[in-house]
Amino acid sequence: MTCLICKSGTYKAGKVTVKLERGSSIVLIKETPAEVCDTCGNYLLDQKTTRAVLKHAKNSFKSGAELEVSKMILA
Ligand SMILES: [Zn+2]
Repeated sequence: MTCLICKSGTYKAGKVTVKLERGSSIVLIKETPAEVCDTCGNYLLDQKTTRAVLKHAKNSFKSGAELEVSKMILA
C-alpha cells in the first residue's frame, strides 16, 4: 500500500513508539506493532492495536502521571 502522507513510500510491518497527549500528560508506548512507511515514517495501527493503545492511555491519564513510558503488551 502506498503511504497516505508522502505518497511515495510503502508500508512495512514494524514497531513504533506511539505518543499520546492529554492536557499536561504525555504517554509513550514503545514497541507497538504497526505498518510503517519506509520513506517518511508515518504509521498505521490496526483496530486491535488502536483499542489496546487507547485503553492503556486511558489508565495512564487516570493515574495523573505527567510522563509515562511503557511497552505495548498485546494479549
Ligand atoms: Zn510516507
